[in-house]
Amino acid sequence: MHFWLPKDAVKEHFDGGFAKNGFLERRSSMSDLIAAVATPPGTGGVGILRLSGPGAAQAAARVFRPKGTRALPDAPDRQLLYGTLLDQAGQALDTGLAFVSRAPHSYTGEETAELQCHGSPMVLSLVLDALFAAGARQARAGEFTQRAFLNGKLDLTQAEAVIDLIEAETPAAARQAAGQLTGALSRRIDAIYSGLTDVMAHFCAVLDYPDEDLDPFQTQQLQEALQTQEDALTALLQTSRRGRLLSQGLTCVLLGRPNAGKSSLLNALAGYERAIVTPIPGTTRDTVEATVTLEGYLFRLVDTAGLRDSDDPIEQLGVARSRQALDQADLILLVCDGTQELGEEDTALLDQALDQADTLLVMNKSDLPGYGCPMFRAEDTAHTLSVVGLSAKTGLGLEFLEEELVRRAQALLPQAGQRASELLLTNQRQTDAVRRAAESVARAGQALEQGVTPDALLTDVEQAMAALGELTGQNIREDIVARIFSKFCVGK
Ligand code: GDP
Repeated sequence: MHFWLPKDAVKEHFDGGFAKNGFLERRSSMSDLIAAVATPPGTGGVGILRLSGPGAAQAAARVFRPKGTRALPDAPDRQLLYGTLLDQAGQALDTGLAFVSRAPHSYTGEETAELQCHGSPMVLSLVLDALFAAGARQARAGEFTQRAFLNGKLDLTQAEAVIDLIEAETPAAARQAAGQLTGALSRRIDAIYSGLTDVMAHFCAVLDYPDEDLDPFQTQQLQEALQTQEDALTALLQTSRRGRLLSQGLTCVLLGRPNAGKSSLLNALAGYERAIVTPIPGTTRDTVEATVTLEGYLFRLVDTAGLRDSDDPIEQLGVARSRQALDQADLILLVCDGTQELGEEDTALLDQALDQADTLLVMNKSDLPGYGCPMFRAEDTAHTLSVVGLSAKTGLGLEFLEEELVRRAQALLPQAGQRASELLLTNQRQTDAVRRAAESVARAGQALEQGVTPDALLTDVEQAMAALGELTGQNIREDIVARIFSKFCVGK
């Protein structure tokens, strides 16, 4: 016997459950009028102010006098009007453009207005004051996009793509974020969610008719259905490293004995004085970071405090941070003083580095007399250890290191920047949710194989669906949403 419940009925029942238990209801509870300057602080050619919420058009009309006869609240959606911007007392401040977008056809899904004037911080501040006097309040960081999410204009992966796009540091990262903004990731997740809904529907039917056993044919079908979704989730999970490398860059950890020249090398690569360089060993007590872009690849350079045991609590803290940085390293630059013999400490660090990640040996201080190429133990060459000789002080040979860094990045991220946007998980939150979903589906598959009762199985499938719902924001706690949007800038 084969039972199927209508898919929508299961979905409705299930989604209804999400709204309980402190989970967020996907409807904006914020109905007040917000305003903010949307362009960055400082002077510029153009400055933009945004308004969202009930009465946005009326409030904007209080600070904008159109040249023509049509008032802003009567203008068609997104039609630009030319006019004069006014301060609180109705005094002319600037000339500019304005438009309105009515609900639900706007970024936030609410009534919105936008005012464009010259990028003068003073004009923008006075117009903003006038908007506050007209009933708006200052928007919080990310509040426009948060409203767009709450009103169903974007899901959470798309909202995260907005931040990623704003913060993109390379062309490839920008393209990736643009792809996610179109909903590519959400569509993939929806397809998996829908597949799991089918499985749910089947088990719900079985539960409703407990006398009916699953026949072996059905069991096999269900097993295949679960396997398909597990495979899809695993494939997605495998993109997370590439996604992280693309959006956050390759983490390059500089390791080496005190005074080897790590801080000098970080400064030389970054092109500015980021780390303090002194001849006193142990100056870098904490990790120091700098980012550099080489041929479109982003590198996050981390200068470590070293890994020596120490009684000094501050130094201990630095050592702990160094170990943490090492755990996250995609590439380790082991910096050695080329004027000195490689000692036990260097070899110990090399062993540690090789255990941890791809390692590059940098023989520094090539400008000094007595600089020589060190001898390596035979087993080190087995790791195909690359060696670069340079002077962090004069910059001689730095380009060899840069070329090598780009080569390593190309190996890890082939065709980054050339490919059109691809489907990648780009942050830890997404990766965690997909991992939990994959684990739950795998558990469900195993349970089915072992002949566990359908209700136990249902719990696993439910957990997988809940994790996917978290990813897109269908079921997510309010505090997590607040944390995600707090990363935005004001006015976005
Ligand atoms: P760290 O402890 O490994 O971070 O080493 P620093 O970068 O602070 O450098 C220690 C000392 O070595 C400083 O006095 C630097 O000026 C010097 N130094 C670093 N790199 C070079 C180099 O390539 N050539 C020379 N001559 N001195 C260097």
